[in-house]
Amino acid sequence: MNQHQHEQPPRKPQSQFENFTASTLYCEKCRATTPVRERLLLVLPDKEIFDYLCTECGSSVGQREVTAGEKMIAQATRPRRQVRIPLKPRGR
Ligand SMILES: [Zn+2]
Repeated sequence: MNQHQHEQPPRKPQSQFENFTASTLYCEKCRATTPVRERLLLVLPDKEIFDYLCTECGSSVGQREVTAGEKMIAQATRPRRQVRIPLKPRGR
């Protein structure tokens, strides 16, 4: 009998690029994965740029751009108030 048919798959190693909003990133100066601080670096009409700083040495370890489109999607996923459409009676 094979008892290993329903063996659980091994946990996937975390990729720092898969989810760039992760709170830890690899720092070249520290040569280690360190917790990072997110800082709003630049605000442009169509996007915002975030800077990620290593909390150990304070150097920039990465940046992320949030475009206006992404922001719109984030707003769209918010629950909206339902709009009631009055039903018109057909004919007379
Ligand atoms: Zn560092």
